[in-house]
Amino acid sequence: MIDFHSHNKESISGKKIFNVLSYDDFPKNKNLLFSVGMHPWYLKPKLWHNDMNFFESLVAQNNVVAIGECGLDWMTFAKQDVQKTVFIKHLQWAEKYDKPIIIHCVKAYNEIIAICKKANIKQTRIIHGFNNNIKIAEQLINAGFYLSFGEALLETSSNAAEAIKITPLDKIFLETDDSDVNIESVYEKAAELLNITQQELIQHTESNFIRIFNK
Ligand SMILES: [Zn+2]
Repeated sequence: MIDFHSHNKESISGKKIFNVLSYDDFPKNKNLLFSVGMHPWYLKPKLWHNDMNFFESLVAQNNVVAIGECGLDWMTFAKQDVQKTVFIKHLQWAEKYDKPIIIHCVKAYNEIIAICKKANIKQTRIIHGFNNNIKIAEQLINAGFYLSFGEALLETSSNAAEAIKITPLDKIFLETDDSDVNIESVYEKAAELLNITQQELIQHTESNFIRIFNK
């Protein structure tokens, strides 16, 4: 089982992408894959030693397989135009280093879709922790985004539990993010909602993973 997005450094039997939120958090665990980005909640250059060139050198490292999480969050304190500038920079790195981009989005889906369209981004874009309504899910899927679902699937009648049902199997990832749930329970619930076996679901997420990383 692949855990597509996690803030927990412990390795699991399957693949896991550990999301690094600051340089001091950069782990030495070789069994993990990493994603590196400036989260809209933590737009503090000092987390990356105040040096954008240094930050970019981390992005370029081989064990960093994806850019992010980064994105737009209209519920946090950082100014919208600053968030947009930083997000666009991450999109440019994704293109330059040929790495998929893991996106955090709160109440800014129209802007995320519009910015990616305007920037003509070819790189794979994954909205992580998706827990919004079917209409937004459809808009994202039609615009070519992948959706990664997590803990919210376990809540009865969450938006995520409905949205996953209309998400094509070749656009789905699963994750634990910063929750305490284990990835097995997320797969179990997702398979039930999708009305397929866990083994089939594992195969789909494996081939999605291979498609976006071994291009
Ligand atoms: Zn996260």
